[in-house]
Amino acid sequence: MTFTTRFAPSPTGPLHLGHAYSALVAHQMAAEAGGRFLLRIEDTDQSRARAQWEKLIFDDLAWLGPRWETPVRRQSEHLASYSNALAIIEKKKLIYPCNCRRADIEAAAGAPQEGVAQFGPDGRIYSGTCRHRTMRDAGAEDALRLNMQLATETLAAPLLYHETGLNSGAKKITAEALLSQVGDVVLQRRNGQTAYHLAVVVDDAIQGVSDVVRGADLAEATQIHVLLQSLLGLPTPRYHHHKLIRDSAGKRLAKRDDATAISTLRSQGQSANDIRRSLGFKPLE
Ligand code: GLU
Repeated sequence: MTFTTRFAPSPTGPLHLGHAYSALVAHQMAAEAGGRFLLRIEDTDQSRARAQWEKLIFDDLAWLGPRWETPVRRQSEHLASYSNALAIIEKKKLIYPCNCRRADIEAAAGAPQEGVAQFGPDGRIYSGTCRHRTMRDAGAEDALRLNMQLATETLAAPLLYHETGLNSGAKKITAEALLSQVGDVVLQRRNGQTAYHLAVVVDDAIQGVSDVVRGADLAEATQIHVLLQSLLGLPTPRYHHHKLIRDSAGKRLAKRDDATAISTLRSQGQSANDIRRSLGFKPLE
């Protein structure tokens, strides 16, 4: 299988150094493997996605050097693929509607107990208030959650995947870990918007991604992705989680930090090669 990777930014802010690093790592890995580098625009959150940010991502990325295949996949143009995937999981009776608000979930969580995880890769681990509900009483306002207990019961053996980045090696995902550290993840948000975890898994399969290259902040989410691949009968790619770029104070860069936006650095006179070098990449010829 041809090495195929992707850079998948959300157009909700400018491209910053952290994104640039991720794109350059993925692009370099594809080039070294004689493989493919794809760009995907993760814009399922239409309340935050903006065409102007998408354009800036294209401009800044091209300026930094990487070239990508076209057409670029834009998630908002493929909503039917996500509904189809959700329908497959729903048919297995693994989904239930949930009308809990964030405050309800906080209130239901109760006092923290020692040794019990409160937060997982999908935020606060859901206490299960709506778990008894069925899709028959799903309202338009409801979010849809995966019943993790039932989902793990469909697994004949622990899930496996291969990590080639930080903490590399063969990884095993057990039902216990999914239940205690992840819980009932949201697959569709209350406004009908596809959740990131579902969209990313569907897209990686449709785009033939053999190697997911992304930041270590998403390493924990991989167990959700591998589980969804199993439920949907999709192949599991290799995963490569890379280090996160931090600011001089050691803080992770956020999209809100305009100081590290590529466009800001450009306007301050930095060249593409200055930025490439600062991130540890060879300058452009
Ligand atoms: N869209 C995600 C982000 O901007 C990246 C998703 C992924 O690489 O799996 O953080």
